[in-house]
Amino acid sequence: MKDTILNNLRIVRQRIENACIKSHRVSHDVQLLLATKTVSADKISVALEAGETLIGENKVQELTEKFAALRATPHQTHFIGHLQSNKIKEVLKYADCIQSVDSLALVGKLQKQLEAEDKSVAIFIQVNTSREQSKFGIDPTNALEFALQLQQFERIRLKGLMTIGLFSAETERVRACYQLLRRIQHQLLQKDIPAFELSMGMSGDIETAIEEGATIIRVGTAVFGSRSYPDSFYWNENIAR
Ligand SMILES: *Cc1c(COP(=O)(O)O)cnc(C)c1O
Repeated sequence: MKDTILNNLRIVRQRIENACIKSHRVSHDVQLLLATKTVSADKISVALEAGETLIGENKVQELTEKFAALRATPHQTHFIGHLQSNKIKEVLKYADCIQSVDSLALVGKLQKQLEAEDKSVAIFIQVNTSREQSKFGIDPTNALEFALQLQQFERIRLKGLMTIGLFSAETERVRACYQLLRRIQHQLLQKDIPAFELSMGMSGDIETAIEEGATIIRVGTAVFGSRSYPDSFYWNENIAR
């Protein structure tokens, strides 16, 4: 188990390196976030002990369950799943950043809780660049307005934009999603909104994402192997919006 993970990590690191060379970027500017949904704390520890520093969880329950086992090894945890407002307190306890912010109602509730605890939180705006009904995230045409409104919430620190691209083997259609996210970033930067990070790209499209400017890629399968649940279980959850 350990050797497989270490070997997979080397392969992923090499893919990042190669993609950076191809797109004239430095690999230092691309952070690897390990998407650890369904992955045991034991396996995650192997990656952390090998020097990885960033993980992402989709479910508050998994975040909570693994926290104690992982806390001995220094790392950061981002929340990358759909956040229900009744889980806000717990997420703020265990996550360093919330990448999946997609409604002002949620932002309002976050702000309220943060005021109560006298702290702040780093967030990303999740944008639905593929415009698939099943995916969470705000509509691309509303992103700028959303970012401007976020500025009223002084305990919410906007770091950047996140997207789950189209799940497709057609590279160019996936690329279009990432290009769209980058165009939205430009819009924001032009308005002096400091959305410097672009969280995009997964196991299947690391290269495309890096070529289009990803600063964080989120990789699960390529490091930990395939999962028994379909991703729709995590991305859709069948919750009414
Ligand atoms: C699972 C997941 C990933 C990683 O997907 P892989 O194909 O396993 O690399 C990235 N982002 C989010 C939001 C995820 O839920």
